[in-house]
Amino acid sequence: MNDKLMLMIPGPTPVPEQVLLAMAKHPIGHRSGDFTKIMAEVTQNLKWLHQTQSDVLMLAASGTGAMEAGIINFLSPGDRVLVTSNGKFGERWVELCQAYGLNTETVTAEWGQAIDPEQVREKLAADTTKQLKAVIVTHSETSTGVLNDLEAINRHVKAHGQALIIVDVVTSLGAINIPFDEWELDVVASGSQKGFMIPPGLGFVAVSPKAWETYKTAKLPRYYLDLGKYRKDAAKNSTPFTPPVNLIFALQAALKMMQAEGLENIFARHQRLTAATRAAIKALGLPLFAPDDAASPAITAVAPQGVDAEQIRAVLKKRFDIVMAGGQDHLNGKIFRIGHLGFVGDRDILAAVASLEATLQELGYQGFTPGAGVAAASQVFVKA
Ligand SMILES: *Cc1c(COP(=O)(O)O)cnc(C)c1O
Repeated sequence: MNDKLMLMIPGPTPVPEQVLLAMAKHPIGHRSGDFTKIMAEVTQNLKWLHQTQSDVLMLAASGTGAMEAGIINFLSPGDRVLVTSNGKFGERWVELCQAYGLNTETVTAEWGQAIDPEQVREKLAADTTKQLKAVIVTHSETSTGVLNDLEAINRHVKAHGQALIIVDVVTSLGAINIPFDEWELDVVASGSQKGFMIPPGLGFVAVSPKAWETYKTAKLPRYYLDLGKYRKDAAKNSTPFTPPVNLIFALQAALKMMQAEGLENIFARHQRLTAATRAAIKALGLPLFAPDDAASPAITAVAPQGVDAEQIRAVLKKRFDIVMAGGQDHLNGKIFRIGHLGFVGDRDILAAVASLEATLQELGYQGFTPGAGVAAASQVFVKA
């Protein structure tokens, strides 16, 4: 059916009607008084979302652009960095660091497993001459649905004392608690088409005072993504280059919605959606790809046995207008991924699980009692 598409991928995520309507206007001049007022409001609310008094800067870029800004503003050629990598996005950090000639070491885990913070601690403890300039982490590894233990990794970085901690929070910001100031994080990068509930096109970077100190001596080349420019103009509620004005209208509306719901409620909702989805998948007898104690709040990956992941996706799309994500790289055809990030409610999960059950029946999968998934998800919602 036309216009009934339900996006359950980990980005772009669904966009609320009031956010879409906020965008449906002529752009205004980005040097106008009206725009300055919007910038002032949005800047404050971004700080609220990041739980920081420090700077949160906005870029006309996708999440990867924000990640790149998070590297080039704070490091110099040849700097030693430690990158955690347990999926596609961890690999992206590695590629990005190598592209800029950084001396890149890794702590890895198999795709589907979490990084062991102890391995990060060992690497940091071995660096007695304090050569490591940064520890670079993917918080929610979207390719596998694994949540890495940022709090524990960060504790070890703080014990080292010198290295910055630079984090991809693209699918954890606005889904789980990340108190930027309280944890003394240095740089976190995110993108608009994930927890922000707006279309793709904006990247966000939060920067600590310690990272700004490093900025002064960092020598990697930078121009469009020079965060110092954005900081200087943000102080005047402006931007150095023409911003995507209509996306900022959308951001203004989305941040208002988030404030009305409240951070605690937003985190609780994502926790509930995750719990319900995982309970349903277990009840259907399908193996979950990420362990219970490292479950991403944004995405649940499923590794079906005896029924093809791509066939499941194809039937869900064709019969039910539901789009779920496939596996990336070597996981293609092995897993499918259910996004539950941003503008997603309990009803969406019930609809998705019921449709998944019907799909499994159509594909002749025998491993479950019809209704068991919906019952398990309902139970989570009723108890919550
Ligand atoms: C989506 C995503 C990104 C950013 O990807 P873009 O396509 O550049 O927006 C980065 N990291 C993670 C974990 C993501 O899920």
